[in-house]
This record gives sequence, structure tokens and C-alpha cells, in this order.
Amino acid sequence: MKLYNTLSKQIEEFIPFEEGKVKIYTCGPTVYNYAHIGNLRTYIFEDVLQKGLEYIGYDVKRAMNITDVGHLTSDSDTGKDKMLEGAKREGKDVYEIANFYTEAFLDDMRKLNMEIPKIIAKASDYIPTYIKMIEKMLENNYAYISNGNVYFDISKANDYYRLSGKNPDELKIGVRDTVEEDSAKKNPADFVLWFTVSKFENQILKWDSPWGVGYPGWHIECSGISYETLGEYLDIHCGGVDNIFPHHTNEIAQSEAFLGHKWCKYWCHGAHLNDKSGKMSKSKGEFLTLSLLMEKGYSPLDYRYFCLNSHYRNSLVFSYESLDIAKRALKKLRNKIASLDRDGDVDQEKMFNFIDKFKESFENDINTSMMITILFDVLKADDLNDATKFELIKDFDKVLSLDLCQKPEQQVAKIAEKEILEKIEERKEAKAKKDFVKADTIRDELLAKGIKLIDNAEGTTYEII
Ligand code: AMP
Ligand code: ZN
Repeated sequence: MKLYNTLSKQIEEFIPFEEGKVKIYTCGPTVYNYAHIGNLRTYIFEDVLQKGLEYIGYDVKRAMNITDVGHLTSDSDTGKDKMLEGAKREGKDVYEIANFYTEAFLDDMRKLNMEIPKIIAKASDYIPTYIKMIEKMLENNYAYISNGNVYFDISKANDYYRLSGKNPDELKIGVRDTVEEDSAKKNPADFVLWFTVSKFENQILKWDSPWGVGYPGWHIECSGISYETLGEYLDIHCGGVDNIFPHHTNEIAQSEAFLGHKWCKYWCHGAHLNDKSGKMSKSKGEFLTLSLLMEKGYSPLDYRYFCLNSHYRNSLVFSYESLDIAKRALKKLRNKIASLDRDGDVDQEKMFNFIDKFKESFENDINTSMMITILFDVLKADDLNDATKFELIKDFDKVLSLDLCQKPEQQVAKIAEKEILEKIEERKEAKAKKDFVKADTIRDELLAKGIKLIDNAEGTTYEII
């Protein structure tokens, strides 16, 4: 298996700490809003990485955090608290916001056929771990207390900039230029491990600590959760490229300061999905979510297919035109697979050659578009009978997770014709009573199940998408 490692800036042979076993940590969402489809691109790449490793025989243990405290609007400890901002925006408290958006996130994962990591850890559940780690860092002079907060002293870290390859002098200028420089820091790039001096009134989530009542910084959460759930040695750590600096840089500094040895071997980062105007952002009003795509008639797996057609390390520009192409291609692919005659004898011998090629493509730094090409090669192969083709595709779909072997009608979430017609009638009545909210809800619920309603002069019909 070859993987690009951001640490060495090279493709490397993957050798885990323990033979046959892989421990992966993947940074999870800050649950103050819906995930945008850019975030979901990163989670899709991580899902394929996990399933691919399992496919080639590894025993994979994966953990993911859910950040419900400590993440400020700037990743460098300045700005406002994201959770409080979310609560204020919706007139709810942070617990309600965290629960609601955690559920929404897990729901997106399920819709995209992602396997939910066995370990999903809420940041607020690991406070004693962060305290223990920070105490040790203070003891060993990696950290200091200033103006009430506890900071990590980056001058003590071993080659602090090695992951990002950033130039500290350039960064100093960058930090100086920002309005909110924290004068309590010895070095502008030092970062907060524990906040006690909170700029934010009504901070609800706070805990007692040896340094006063407060809450953890964002970066210590991932170091703490990874240590607590996966142990002292980590094989792979993933996230999007924006996480390289400062988040992952700080995770390395803290974890290694606490553990006293090298912590994670491979750092894998997914390139961004951008919209035509540039960076995808949650602050742009109506941002691109999975539900929005569904409202527009795309299925979540159309989006998964769209993502898998490009390499995770190449940035990708989102457009509805490209998504249309992916949607049509996936539909054609499924129809072709549905037309295979499954009743013949499966030729196991002939399967190996294609399985090897599929594995090789995955092992070549997760080349998903090549994995899909192998799938098309299977469909085109003259020397394979239909039953063998079907078996191969079913096998590949353990990694691709595109529901390739379901017949189009099975993809509609087991909803009976009678039920659809009842819903259409209910919507008609709602419209007659001018209850357009209800009418739209019925339409969206059906769409989420893959049933698109079409209004025309004669009434309403439906299409399975
Ligand atoms: P966040 O909820 O902002 O902490 O981001 C969750 C995950 O999505 C992180 O791994 C980010 O690195 C990643 N991410 C953020 N923006 C994008 C984007 N535009 N495209 C791909 N991944 C992203
Ligand atoms: Zn993280």
C-alpha cells in the first residue's frame, strides 16, 4: 500500500506500527451547523480509505471526534466561539445545537453510505484527559500559564513547522497583521490549551480545572481523544488540507510533548472542494448541503460518485453541470449492472485478476477513479460471464458503496406505490388548503427517498431517481 504522507511530502510504503492492524484518527465536525458538501468530500475519502484498508485485509480501528466546545471562528484561538454563535443564530442552547447537528451529520454519513466510525467521541466527554495532558505539559515546561490561560510554547516543540513546511517568519508577519493578537502569548504562534479567561459571556460549557473554571482549546481535543481511544501510537491521521496548519501541527506538538515519543506515522489530507467563486464556506448564507442537493433532485450517492471520480489530493470545483454528468453516469452504470443475468456459474478463478487490479488501484494512494475504471473494464470484459461480472461488482461495492447492485426500484427506500400515491393525495389536499409548508415537506420527504414528484397539467406524477 502506498500513501502520500504530508509529513514527508512523499508517497511512502505504508507500514503500520502493528502488523495487520491500522489505527486511524479522522477529525470530525464542529457541530454548530450542517456539514457542507466540501466537508463531506473529506469524509467520503476517509470512508474509502477505511473500507479499502479492510478490503485488502487490515483490521481497522477508527476514531472520530465531535467538537462541541472550544472551537473558535479562527482556527488560531481568536474570534468567536462557533457553538455559541450557532446557539445565538437559532435561539437555542449549545446542547440543543450540538445534539441537532450531530444527528444531522450522522444522517448525512448514512445517506452517503459511509460507515460510521465505531468510536465517535464527543469532545466534552474527555475533559479529565485534556487536564491530565496539560498538567504533564506544564510539568515538563512545554506549556505556560499567562493571563489566566494555559498556552503551548511552540519553541519547545520538536521541529514545530515540519508538517506544514511553513516559514515561521512569514507567519509572524501574518499574525501581526491580524487585529486580535493575544499579548499574553510568548510567541504569536503559541496556542491555547485551556481557556479560563473567556471573552465570551454566557459560556455554558465550562469545567473546573487546576487553572480555574474554563474549557479546552480545540486542538487538545483531538490529541486527547486519539490518545484515550487509540493509544500512544497512531498509524494514520486524516483531515482536509486546511487542517494541516494550525490544527494538525498543534496536535503533533502537544501529543509528542505529552507522550515523549513520535506519535503518528502517516498524515493524509484531502484537497478541498471549491465552488466557482472559490472557497466553500458556511458563512455565505445558503451554503451547499447534502439536503440542498437532494431538494434539487440529486441522490446522495450521485454526489459520492462525483467525488470518487477525482483523486482525493486534487482540488475539485463543484458545479451542478458536473453533478448532472455524475448522476447520469451512475444511473447508466446501475442500469447496465441491473441487466446482467445473475443466474450463471461464477468463475472464481477469473475474478482474481480483476480483484488484484482493483486492489492495486486502491493501494496506489487511493486511486478511486482508477478503481471505477476497473469496474467498467469488468463490464466490458468478453471473457467474463454475467454472473461473474455481477459478483465482482458486488465485491468492489464494499469499498465504493454506491449501491451498484441494487435494481433501480430497490433503491427507492422500500416505499410502496400505494404509499406514494397516498402522499401525493395528501400533498394535493395541503395545497388546496394553501398549506404550502406541508406540501413542500411531503415533496422533500419523498425526494429524500429517491422519489421525485412532477407537477403537470393533469396532476402529479412521480419518477424514481
Ligand atoms: P470543520 O467542520 O470545518 O472542522 O471541517 C470538517 C472537515 O472538513 C475537516 O476535515 C476539514 O479539513 C474539511 N473541510 C473543510 N472545508 C473543506 C472543503 N471545502 N473541501 C473539503 N474538505 C473540507
Ligand atoms: Zn482534529
